[in-house]
Amino acid sequence: MILVTGGAGFIGANFVLDWLAGGDEAVLNLDALTYAGNLETLASLERTAAHRFIHGDICDRALVDGLLAEHRPRAIIHFAAESHVDRSIHGPGTFVRTNVEGTFTLLEAARTYWSGLPAGDREAFRFLHVSTDEVYGSLGPQDPPFAETKTYEPNSPYSASKAASDHLVRAWHHTYGLPVLTTNCSNNYGPYQFPEKLIPLMIVNALAGKPLPVYGDGLNVRDWLYVGDHCSAIREVLARGRTGETYNIGGWNEIANIDIVRTLCRLLDEMRPDPAGPHERLISYVKDRPGHDRRYAIDARKIERELGWKPAETFETGIRKTVRWYLDNPGWIANVQSGAYRDWVATQYGGS
Ligand code: NAD
Repeated sequence: MILVTGGAGFIGANFVLDWLAGGDEAVLNLDALTYAGNLETLASLERTAAHRFIHGDICDRALVDGLLAEHRPRAIIHFAAESHVDRSIHGPGTFVRTNVEGTFTLLEAARTYWSGLPAGDREAFRFLHVSTDEVYGSLGPQDPPFAETKTYEPNSPYSASKAASDHLVRAWHHTYGLPVLTTNCSNNYGPYQFPEKLIPLMIVNALAGKPLPVYGDGLNVRDWLYVGDHCSAIREVLARGRTGETYNIGGWNEIANIDIVRTLCRLLDEMRPDPAGPHERLISYVKDRPGHDRRYAIDARKIERELGWKPAETFETGIRKTVRWYLDNPGWIANVQSGAYRDWVATQYGGS
């Protein structure tokens, strides 16, 4: 069994679905179901004995200790986090609590559990910490992409809290010998992403004929990776990564925000034309986010070289699949927007 934290969020849920579709071992899924956690995404697993959902907080040490003692997982894959930069600017406290204190709590619980395991199990145990490229700071137009050796220079409360959690994970390896792995991935896109993030927000707004808000001049650059490729990279790192190491994960797809929005408009014009005119008419430039990092780019050569991992999707194929998914799943979007997805907690888990 593996313990997944944050498995009702965007990437965590994609990972759990992918893991169980591959016929792998059981998943114990610990998630606090914040606004970003959505059990409806996991509805297809309702009758799957290999998936057990626990509604709880990673900051709850007694709960985590109890889960580890009862279920004896061979690995922890730690996705749970507050993840939205804009929210971190308006309310940094929850980011420090979940991302820093929550990771600390998990590390301490894992250390106690791991040190009590029999020798063979101790050797095999892994704590995989899922992190972001945003910890590295912002690049100038001519700078090389972030390698794993790049100095940390986080600029937002979100990236600072993730950077702090990365440092704790590193220290628990160097100080206590906990067998950790850290992954720093670029921006993900794909099915089941909460529509506050760029790509689903633009699709959902475009379909509703609402403005498509683009920050500043739209020229901020991000590297983009299809979520299924992030999941396959995590599997590889879990299976064969060297403990104590960090692996950058990226798609070699540096794209300016405005080009992402234009691509989405073009795909929507093709797949769901709007009688009112091309979707680009909805693009609306808005005041920039404070401290907005200009450019992120990932050097993914280490994971490619050491583990032979490569993304299966190009940006063109992945973004087309993503738009298709949002067009085919209006019910999922409507329930997120109305807040009805929260009812799943009550209907599926007796309100726990
Ligand atoms: P998300 O916001 O969609 O999901 C986060 C999940 O964590 C939610 O289900 C939420 O309910 C849960 N959670 C929050 N606080 C919790 C707590 N205290 N206890 C238990 N559960 C809690 O995030 P995501 O986009 O799926 O990101 C997952 C991880 O991947 C994060 O650690 C994030 O930093 C990292 N990451 C994300 C991206 C991206 O593009 N989305 C890129 C690189 C890395």
